[in-house]
Amino acid sequence: MAGSKRDYYEVLGVERGASKEELKKAYRKLAVQYHPDKNPGNHEAEEKFKELSEAYEVLSDEQKRQQYDQFGHQAFGGGRGGGAGGFGGSGGFGIDLEEALRTFMGAAGGRGSIFEDFFGGGGRSGGGRETERRGSDLRFDLEIDFEEAVLGSEREIGFPVMEECSDCKGSGAAPGSSRETCKHCGGSGAVTRSNGFFHVRQTCPVCSGTGQVIANPCRKCGGEGRVKGRRNLTLKIPAGVETGSRLRVGGKGEGGVRGGPAGDLYVVLHVKAHDIFQRRDEDIFCQVPIPFVTAALGGEVEVPTVHGFAKIKIPAGTQTGKTFRIRGKGVSGLRGGRSGDQHVSVVVEVPVKLSGKQKKLLDEFASLSDESHHPERKHFHAKAEEFYERKRKMGK
Ligand SMILES: [Zn+2]
Ligand SMILES: [Zn+2]
Repeated sequence: MAGSKRDYYEVLGVERGASKEELKKAYRKLAVQYHPDKNPGNHEAEEKFKELSEAYEVLSDEQKRQQYDQFGHQAFGGGRGGGAGGFGGSGGFGIDLEEALRTFMGAAGGRGSIFEDFFGGGGRSGGGRETERRGSDLRFDLEIDFEEAVLGSEREIGFPVMEECSDCKGSGAAPGSSRETCKHCGGSGAVTRSNGFFHVRQTCPVCSGTGQVIANPCRKCGGEGRVKGRRNLTLKIPAGVETGSRLRVGGKGEGGVRGGPAGDLYVVLHVKAHDIFQRRDEDIFCQVPIPFVTAALGGEVEVPTVHGFAKIKIPAGTQTGKTFRIRGKGVSGLRGGRSGDQHVSVVVEVPVKLSGKQKKLLDEFASLSDESHHPERKHFHAKAEEFYERKRKMGK
């Protein structure tokens, strides 16, 4: 604890002369390793994470680093503040795990990379706690047609969200007034409770750790800093999506609090079934009825694909269930991958509502046919005969 504080450079595992970049890299690596989300219930990791955040907070700030280099831990209140934090009396930039996490999650939650925005310059200025908070990410479930999934489309969507209040600009304080320092905690956001033996540092219950209270709340939002609003946007659906595909729209989630950035919107797609096309990955399957004369004589038939009509050659003597593959007429690969194929399964359609003349011609056709014209039927009958033969031999 106090007095046994590790050297900040040692904590980050860098040389004393390390550049800003090197510090950042070292911190990034270790923060991921010891992040409490990755080490639930592990107090050692929690301590390490705190130590790390503290070390980085100082060394990443040029002025603080200089002070630290010159005076060591003394620069920030010396041996004070044993236990969590250690920065107790240090000019208002005390850091505790809760705050470190808030910063960490607030800046990073839900982005492509958890560190994407964390180091994006700006930095947290000393003095006074920042109270802005990133808005929540939102999920929106959208049902789309088969065609839209395969070919891509644009959709107007709208949904209710909480947005920054325009009257108070999200501060929660009535226009003309401002937030005041919390008297309960003196603006530090934390209070120390004692039961005689232990001192426990806790988030201030009056200001919820923000260090500030609103004496005169904004009328429009009641001090929340946000109001109910509605978000409308045009969503671009890329060709090739399927049920379960998730589209991220950055900054279109819930509005941030007190100038914090908005959350992200995640649109989860559900594709409706189609009457004639089925899809498996990038391939499309379709059953196509063909006239029995075409099946017998051979010919060409037009079949629908999602890209328009295509022609397939039907060889003479084609039976129901025969499948044909039309290359490249499936779904275009979502990430520029190769397009799928369309698989056509033919169903031979027997003609109905025959005229007298048609019937006569078919009768004539039948009189010219024998079992050699129906090899499937001949084969089937042979198998049936075998069955009865064996049955007879068993005496049954
Ligand atoms: Zn307001
Ligand atoms: Zn307070």
